Amino acid sequence: MMNRELISIVLPVFNESKNLQLVYNEILKVIKNLEHRYSFEIIFVNDGSMDDSWKIIQEIAFSDDRVRGFSFTRNFGHQLALMAGYDHASGAAIISMDADLQHPPHIIPSMLDAWKNGAMIVYAKNSTIGRSSLKSAASDFFYRFFDKISTFSIPKHVQDFRLIDQKVCQALRQFNERSPYLRGMVAWTGFPSKVLEVDFKQRAYGKSGYSWVKMIRLAFDGITSFSLVPLRIAFYLGLLIIFTGIGMFTYITIDAVFFDVRYPLFKWLVTLIYICIGLLFSLIWLLGEYTGRIYELVQCRPRYVLLDSVSECKQTQFISLRHSVEARDKAL
Ligand code: UDP
Ligand code: MG
Repeated sequence: MMNRELISIVLPVFNESKNLQLVYNEILKVIKNLEHRYSFEIIFVNDGSMDDSWKIIQEIAFSDDRVRGFSFTRNFGHQLALMAGYDHASGAAIISMDADLQHPPHIIPSMLDAWKNGAMIVYAKNSTIGRSSLKSAASDFFYRFFDKISTFSIPKHVQDFRLIDQKVCQALRQFNERSPYLRGMVAWTGFPSKVLEVDFKQRAYGKSGYSWVKMIRLAFDGITSFSLVPLRIAFYLGLLIIFTGIGMFTYITIDAVFFDVRYPLFKWLVTLIYICIGLLFSLIWLLGEYTGRIYELVQCRPRYVLLDSVSECKQTQFISLRHSVEARDKAL
């Protein structure tokens, strides 16, 4: 068996001791049928679990050389655990999935096929989302809001179950985000993508590591890392205050000049102070714009991402052209 491409499977783990062996067995079943074409590495990243997850990962890794494990000192969060997996993944394609059996591994062959057919990002979309819960309604609202305020959109109901090409992974590694929002980062890179529908399952054991607080924090990370629109709130507020203030000022001026109404001094002052508050808001917005630009700078994202370049193609074309010319010369 030669030259099989390496595929990495990355699983972030937080208190999944009961699920680890199960998910590992499920993955084994699936990759067994793919071993004629691909070789695999499975990377578990233990995100400061309080149970025996790390012990189990070590046991699995000792018994199978395809398995690698990394353990954080404490709980850094799902996104950073995934990022650590991406940092260590050397596969030509990298698949990320939950370690709780919510993401069925049986879709891996279709993901690999889609990748072979040119998709550099393959999302697995949850087709059972019809069951409405408060969390899924909140996530729906979030994605709709995100679409409005950012310059690109994230496919809905995909979670972090996806395949990415090594090229995408290299682009992600160039980001310098402290609180990465991977779903956004992956979509932002803009590589050709495909969405596959699959039924997500209920987690096998244990409870979700995503509390409402963690979910809201993730949504906030998503918005603040990809949009400067919240900074512009001060601008719109400032504009509103300035215009209503000018309206008020004009009203009392007309009253005073044409209708001889005598306004006490404090009313004039209040109106002027009101307009000044609007000006202050606009200046806060201006500060925000500069801060936003500095923020974008320190994120150190690649400014653009290359999909391909024609210079390489030209060279291969040139070589094949030369070969065909040589072949023709020989034939003559
Ligand atoms: N996870 C993690 N760190 C955390 C929370 C979760 O590494 O702080 C892992 C968890 O073990 C699982 C994946 O991230 O493999 C997704 O988390 P979870 O299943 O709890 O979230 P849900 O699927 O409920 O959104
Ligand atoms: Mg889960």
